[in-house]
Amino acid sequence: MTDVFSGSFTQQEPLPEDAIEAALAVLRHGRLHRYNVVPGELGETALLEQEFAAQMGAKYCLAVSSGGYALATALRAVGVQPGDPVLTNAFTLAPVPGAIASVGGRAVFVGVTEDLTIDLDDLEGKLDQARVLMLSHMRGHLCDMDRLMQMCDAAGVIVIEDCAHTMGAAWRGQLSGRQGAIGCYSCQTYKHVNSGEGGLLVTDDEELAAKATMLSGSYMLYERHLAAPGPDVFERIKYTTPNVSGRMDNLRAAILRPQLRDLDRQVARWNERYREIETGLRGTPGLTIVERPEEETYVGSSIQFLLLDWAPERIAEVISRCAARGVELKWFGGAEPTGFTSRYDSWRYFDSERMPKSDRVLAGVMDMRVPLTFSLEDCRLIARIIRAEVSEVYQS
Ligand SMILES: *Cc1c(COP(=O)(O)O)cnc(C)c1O
Repeated sequence: MTDVFSGSFTQQEPLPEDAIEAALAVLRHGRLHRYNVVPGELGETALLEQEFAAQMGAKYCLAVSSGGYALATALRAVGVQPGDPVLTNAFTLAPVPGAIASVGGRAVFVGVTEDLTIDLDDLEGKLDQARVLMLSHMRGHLCDMDRLMQMCDAAGVIVIEDCAHTMGAAWRGQLSGRQGAIGCYSCQTYKHVNSGEGGLLVTDDEELAAKATMLSGSYMLYERHLAAPGPDVFERIKYTTPNVSGRMDNLRAAILRPQLRDLDRQVARWNERYREIETGLRGTPGLTIVERPEEETYVGSSIQFLLLDWAPERIAEVISRCAARGVELKWFGGAEPTGFTSRYDSWRYFDSERMPKSDRVLAGVMDMRVPLTFSLEDCRLIARIIRAEVSEVYQS
């Protein structure tokens, strides 16, 4: 019996009907630009910011054109200048080093552990090299946020969180993105809410919020924001903060608002699927499950496992056997960046030193998306296929 899986790893669910209705309303009135409102009207983008700030328990929120733009805006807002070093994860996706490069910064990479989180011992030794850490919660894995924040606070290092994979996640009950000075989220199709492209930024710091708002291209229309600081704060920064346009528009905001209202239910559905796959993989010879800490509330929108210390040819063999049965595994250890997988040594616009401990982990990281279009039965089948093929190659 060789079952084959026939679902698509890139197919998300259709947008909910209320999002479609809201989009049509915007299309019918035609006021897509966020500042294009009639007297007394609250635009969709301003409302989205107000609602997301409340949902995250943040004082301020800004909606922008992409997750990567939110990250770059955060770096600009905290004052990163050309040539400045910025600490960041060796294991992340290309928009993170890209955001640092976009402001002329220089990435200082920090290693990854077998838990797939930032190596806090490595970070500790590098904290004196930069005043900003762009912390990527890559693939939704949260490090010990208590220890990280203690270390960074003690060293005076500002933390910007990349929550592209942790919207809806939490560390000891505190929502991801709320520990650092700024939290950044992506609303791109493959993340937890889908507007095609889009980003959100939250903070409790009035000056960072005002700067980010000006940077995003508010002209002098910041009073139309509902989750921004008062005009006095803008008065302080408005002549010295450039406009780097990257606003969100009302169409995308309209389709995001209903999705955000539904986020908790979606998170529960992702986690049911994640747990089916994890249970199915547990105990597979040669395969290491990435255990989740008790303090972490995660969002299982993707799953990772390790084939630690496997020869590259044997990993390639597992990938091709799984692919032949319809299961698409991504491999961060591949020699060349392919699709969305790349690693610190693929970003050659920055110098990096080899990190042997991280290289060992990266060489064995297998990654798989878990779209909500998969049924629980699909998840069981996928786990059976991976288990069978990994066991077969391991024992051969
Ligand atoms: C998707 C993603 C981002 C931001 O991506 P955009 O496509 O710019 O919205 C940032 N970090 C990580 C880890 C991501 O996966």
